[in-house]
Amino acid sequence: MGHHRCGRQRKIWLTDYMNSTHSGETGGLSVTFWGTRGTRMVTGDAFMRYGRKTICAEVRCGDRVIVLDAGSGLVPLGSAMKGNGTRQFDLFLTHAHYDHVEGIPFFEPFYDPQFKVNIWSGKLKGIQKTRDIVDGLMKEPYFPIRQEKFLADIRYRDIEDHAAINLGDGIMVHTTRLHHPGGATGYRIDYKGKRFAFITDTTHATGQCDTELVKFLRDVDAFAYDCSYLDREFPKFSSFGHSTWEEAERLRKAANAGHVFGIHHMPFRDDAALDTISAQIVKDMAHCTVTRDGMRIEL
Ligand SMILES: [Zn+2]
Ligand SMILES: [Zn+2]
Repeated sequence: MGHHRCGRQRKIWLTDYMNSTHSGETGGLSVTFWGTRGTRMVTGDAFMRYGRKTICAEVRCGDRVIVLDAGSGLVPLGSAMKGNGTRQFDLFLTHAHYDHVEGIPFFEPFYDPQFKVNIWSGKLKGIQKTRDIVDGLMKEPYFPIRQEKFLADIRYRDIEDHAAINLGDGIMVHTTRLHHPGGATGYRIDYKGKRFAFITDTTHATGQCDTELVKFLRDVDAFAYDCSYLDREFPKFSSFGHSTWEEAERLRKAANAGHVFGIHHMPFRDDAALDTISAQIVKDMAHCTVTRDGMRIEL
């Protein structure tokens, strides 16, 4: 697809990573979605156009790279990094459910001594340390290689609740607590006057806007949001810790945010089902997009 312009006051450029001719190093803030599927990977002809790989996004602020979540979308991102010269980045995990960490054991840069990585996560119930999250994934009988065998220079970092992390080069990362079984952390990246937030996985109370989240999202240019369900499906799944397309739009309006990129598509949502949602959005929610694997935005 070519360049699109969306949002009333804010310009957001949508492009497709695969068809894109430039490197993504625009000097501003760009986001590439490498995995948009929630819960588990999907395969087959019914899932060719939207998301097959689980949650992973790459944010570029100038030449700095921030990776959000490490689902199976992390694996092709690793190959891209080897090719484009990226050797240093920060990886922020929302939480440790499989669809957000399963790319870690298979991520090539971790086995390459040229890479330097900070891995960050917030306070989760049960698992308190970022190192423990990676340790739990990398042990027998689940996986034959321990994380001690990683060749990259990896630093594990733990985030306090509601932190403001100065990454240097004018990049600030703010965090908030989300509402999800076991806990999850939401992130907002501020860079050169641009703001992008990453809010997954989280649920909401029907008819009650999450005032803390509204504050956190105030005036962001764009945010990715847990759009697992539609409002009419929500009562059936309200205890699962996920949210809806309509809630994303309510939050966007309440926070005066620019645009929503819906992610965490459920496995029962094939291309045809996501096309239907996309068509509905064009009519009712002009500032929302059904995000696809490979989609890139520039703020
Ligand atoms: Zn998830
Ligand atoms: Zn989860």
